[in-house]
Amino acid sequence: MKDANISVCANPQCKQEFKRLGEGKLYVRPAGKNDKGTNQKALWLCPECAEHFDLRYDRRLQEYSLVRRRRVA
Ligand SMILES: [Zn+2]
Repeated sequence: MKDANISVCANPQCKQEFKRLGEGKLYVRPAGKNDKGTNQKALWLCPECAEHFDLRYDRRLQEYSLVRRRRVA
């Protein structure tokens, strides 16, 4: 689990510590063709950030980026 980065919230401004599964949102990067072995990366958003942000996977960058969610009326 060295590559997994779910110890803190994926929002750089937040950095809330990951407590347990079932809280917030967990994102697992799909394994790409360039990946050597099992180089899956997991990211976690705390419940507060998950309310305001989403993580969108960019296939070109092969990276997740933080996007602001639209407010649901
Ligand atoms: Zn957060």
